[in-house]
Amino acid sequence: MGHMKIFLDLDGVLVDFVGGIHRAFGKEYSYNSAPIKWNFFEHWSPKVHSCDINRACTVDFWANLDWMCDGREILRKIDEELDVSDDLFLLTCPMHNPQSWTGKRLWVERHIPHLVDRLIVTPAFKGIFASDNAVLIDDKDENIAKFVEAGGRGILVPRPWNELRGWAGRTLEVMRNSLGEL
Ligand SMILES: [Mg+2]
Repeated sequence: MGHMKIFLDLDGVLVDFVGGIHRAFGKEYSYNSAPIKWNFFEHWSPKVHSCDINRACTVDFWANLDWMCDGREILRKIDEELDVSDDLFLLTCPMHNPQSWTGKRLWVERHIPHLVDRLIVTPAFKGIFASDNAVLIDDKDENIAKFVEAGGRGILVPRPWNELRGWAGRTLEVMRNSLGEL
């Protein structure tokens, strides 16, 4: 494959959104017993409404999220696999709360400042970026399926909350293989 455009998701791949939102609401959480549903908060008891989740996702919430346990290594692996002619972009979907735009930008400034000018924050369908030489790296099954359907390539990052959950303990190994196959 020649010149590639890599579109890398933030939340659940590099950034620990799931851990952060549990912490914000005082809920128990560990990666190895992570929720297997996307709408995990709907199963919380006592109940927390999605509006309250959205409201809690302020600039500071986003800016202060931790890396995923293996986020730095994932980024390093991608860097190693890229050729100089390849382009890496960060492609992330904001929440309804407009503060998520600013907070995501601040997180990238703080942790990976050299990629600030590669940050795309958009609620638009990720498939608009799909092409023969485009690769989406994401932790959401549906995003990968639709990107591939739209004509791109996809790498699903194994996480406890997606269909590769059986590999979630060996994420780096799977990523290394998937990247090597591009
Ligand atoms: Mg994600």
